[in-house]
Amino acid sequence: MNDRDALVSPRDMVSSGLCTGCGGCVSLAGGAQARMAWDADGQLKPQGDRRWHEGRSAPFSERCPFSPLAANEDAIAAMRFPQAPHADPWIGRFEAAYVGHAAEAGYREQGSSGGMVSWVAAELLRRKMVDGIAHVAPVDPREGAFFRYRIARDQASLRGGAKSRYYPVEMSAVLREMREVPGRYAVVGIPCFIKAVHLACRSDPVLRERIAFTLGLVCGHMKSRHMVESFAWQMGLGIDEVREVDFRVKNPDRPANWYTARLARRDGEVRMRDWWHLVDGDWGSGFFQNRACDFCDDVVAETADISFGDAWVEPYSSDGRGTNVVVVRSPALHRMLEDGRAEGRLALDPIDAAFVRETQAAGFRQRREGLAYRLAWKRSGVKPRKRVAPERRHLPLRRKLVYRLRHCITRGSAVMFRLARWLRRPRVFILWGRAALALYQGLTYSRGRLGRVFDRTEAFLTRMR
Ligand SMILES: Cc1cc2nc3c(=O)[nH]c(=O)nc-3n(C[C@H](O)[C@H](O)[C@H](O)COP(=O)(O)OP(=O)(O)OC[C@H]3O[C@@H](n4cnc5c(N)ncnc54)[C@H](O)[C@@H]3O)c2cc1C
Repeated sequence: MNDRDALVSPRDMVSSGLCTGCGGCVSLAGGAQARMAWDADGQLKPQGDRRWHEGRSAPFSERCPFSPLAANEDAIAAMRFPQAPHADPWIGRFEAAYVGHAAEAGYREQGSSGGMVSWVAAELLRRKMVDGIAHVAPVDPREGAFFRYRIARDQASLRGGAKSRYYPVEMSAVLREMREVPGRYAVVGIPCFIKAVHLACRSDPVLRERIAFTLGLVCGHMKSRHMVESFAWQMGLGIDEVREVDFRVKNPDRPANWYTARLARRDGEVRMRDWWHLVDGDWGSGFFQNRACDFCDDVVAETADISFGDAWVEPYSSDGRGTNVVVVRSPALHRMLEDGRAEGRLALDPIDAAFVRETQAAGFRQRREGLAYRLAWKRSGVKPRKRVAPERRHLPLRRKLVYRLRHCITRGSAVMFRLARWLRRPRVFILWGRAALALYQGLTYSRGRLGRVFDRTEAFLTRMR
């Protein structure tokens, strides 16, 4: 098969479960032909006239981040950071890595973890290194979503967008704005979005000149908008009553990894619930995950000029004030961080790649060992081309079952949520969710009876081989 046969269309990518909903293709198409719209599973997907949607073209195939014809993260990073002194198979190329937080007042308190994304973005504006930051901010839900990408051009609007949004967003409008309005920009995004930006820059000289920096967010996976509705159900609310969503309420007196969700009603009443008490609140279980995330191999946004995550290791995970892990690849941003440290505006300690990897151990298991296993399954449609080879043999039975169950929960949560909504019986979803979660947690964490059954079965099967 040559590359011409491998060309793909937006429709191919959507129907193969490989569309992450970034909106890059729609920005390329022009508003008259194509737009991003909600699908039945609460994900954003491209829609357009038949010729565009079904047309297999080289420009689309080379720009869609999950297309088998697109350059992979290694190739993009090699082109962007040829002088990087470190190259790690998990973290990619990088200049330096740190653990810590923004010490300057107002950032850590308002951020989801250490406030470093907002600090770096604010510093880019303050030093006039960019004119605008494309990031995600809350909007009035009457506009059809709780959050949207927008371009912040001053400090106040940048600060208004702090915090993580585990909610589908897309970049078509901000990519168009950056093409239309001259200036220099930075883009904040999860790894596949940042990859899409760099793929767009390869073929678009205007974007290439204007997008000066990319700020990546470490990513576990992207969620459906139905997760917010499910949270609302479990807090005794209808989605139409909800005016504001905060996925992570900061509480310095509790460990950072005990997430609390907060929903505010139109009349001002606030309801809060810990994620652990929500049926879909265990990240690892895969509830409401975007299907494309099953085929991602980039945890730390390897193509971004700088990446930020949570430092999920002790003592940092117990520190409710929040702590970042930071990987910097751009020499200019490396200098900015060193200046910030010298001036006492940043509290950062140097770390190595092994430390970064440890902070994201579960994410790497899912995108290396888990991805290798999923790639070995039979599937129809476009075949993803990843940096991980298919492998099913060397995995213990229990791990295989965890990956199978996680995949089933992703698919099952989408279907059961729709069924519950159609029946107008939230309890149908909640009861199913509780059972699925109990099975998942029993399989994954149990050292009790269920765990022993799996371990003995596995030992027996190993002896039989
Ligand atoms: C979907 C998703 C999954 C994540 N998974 C992990 C994970 O598994 N492990 C981990 O360590 N960290 C993960 N993160 C990153 C983490 O939640 C924090 O965003 C990161 O640590 C930066 O925190 P901060 O306090 O420095 O950022 P802040 O100062 O709070 O700033 C956050 C910035 O990110 C922007 N933003 C928020 N949501 C989005 C979005 N969806 N797309 C684009 N921009 C956005 C905001 O507008 C703001 O500018 C994830 C983030 C997202 C959005």
